[in-house]
Amino acid sequence: MPMFVPGPVDVDPEILAAQSRPTMPHRSKEYEEIFHRAENNARKLFFTDHRVIITASSGTGFHEAAVRNFVPDDGRILSLTNGAFGNRWHEVALTNGKTADKIETEWNVPVTADLVAEQITKHKYDILCVVHNETSVGVMNPVKEIAAVVHELSPDTLICVDAVSSLGGYKLEMDAWGVDMILTSSQKTLALPPGLGLAAVSDRALEKAKTVPNRGWYFDLVRMENYRIKNSTPATSAVNLVYALDVQLLRILEEGLENRFARYAGMAARVHAWAEEKGWGLWAPEGYRSMTVTTVNKPEWLNMSQLNAYLLERDMRVAGGYGPIKPKTFRIAHMGELQMTDMDTLLATIDAFEKEVAIAA
Ligand code: PLP
Repeated sequence: MPMFVPGPVDVDPEILAAQSRPTMPHRSKEYEEIFHRAENNARKLFFTDHRVIITASSGTGFHEAAVRNFVPDDGRILSLTNGAFGNRWHEVALTNGKTADKIETEWNVPVTADLVAEQITKHKYDILCVVHNETSVGVMNPVKEIAAVVHELSPDTLICVDAVSSLGGYKLEMDAWGVDMILTSSQKTLALPPGLGLAAVSDRALEKAKTVPNRGWYFDLVRMENYRIKNSTPATSAVNLVYALDVQLLRILEEGLENRFARYAGMAARVHAWAEEKGWGLWAPEGYRSMTVTTVNKPEWLNMSQLNAYLLERDMRVAGGYGPIKPKTFRIAHMGELQMTDMDTLLATIDAFEKEVAIAA
């Protein structure tokens, strides 16, 4: 069933088959080889030569890792937010007892490099946290430009990026842009079952972590790195999920990263044009629209429960709006394994639903 929701997304049968291979001990040569290949291939998605830490958790685990590993108790965080997940990361900082300032824009306004430039020199910030693709609103924040401003004005600040719904679907060049951490989850653009967190971490970030006390245990990046170099994890690996990751990364690389990015961009353009043509319009401003999930302005007559019931009868599903913008919007994801033909089918079905509602009225 094509799920046009921003995760968890449909998983290809080949991946489910890979995942159901017999479980093996995580401390074994055979498993270490698989882990090693997966970690090396994952680096290509992050455009990094540093390292990718793979763990059994959802992506939020690495929100916690960032604030615990890179920020001492007397340190300071700059959180950027224009949606639910930016707010979550800020809350993760506060609930870990850290001091954090927030740059917050309206939920349809990107957090720009200019706003960061105004704030970044006001304090000595250990890290800046930014969500690249704010899934709750379909806005893509300009990480490359933000990173450039931070390098210029506050070069010691580590740049931490949540790319939970964009990594592998958009070209995020960790090393070229000088980003220190990019985190993601398995269940979105990577089209894997939920349960794995992946984070690329720079050398300088890891060096900084070594100086920060009370990093905790499970998400201690220094400990994780000490095991990663032995192709392993401190605690038990999610062995079967790593089988799935390994096979999916090979499939992604076979498709070709540029081809994959183009597939997403093409589907995004298709949905954008459709929504504009209908006169419904898009929530996010041009230039900052997500390539993996489109937030469409919802006409008042459109009842999401009725639409999804209609779609479900035809084996499809879209996502409602998020939190405070729920009454005004709905979301169509174009990530994972979805193809242009799936988008055509979905959009034609929504058009048919609209006609039926009009006839009934
Ligand atoms: N960040 C973003 C941008 C997300 O979209 C999500 C989940 O939807 C999360 C963080 C949280 O990820 P997880 O549920 O894997 O912890």
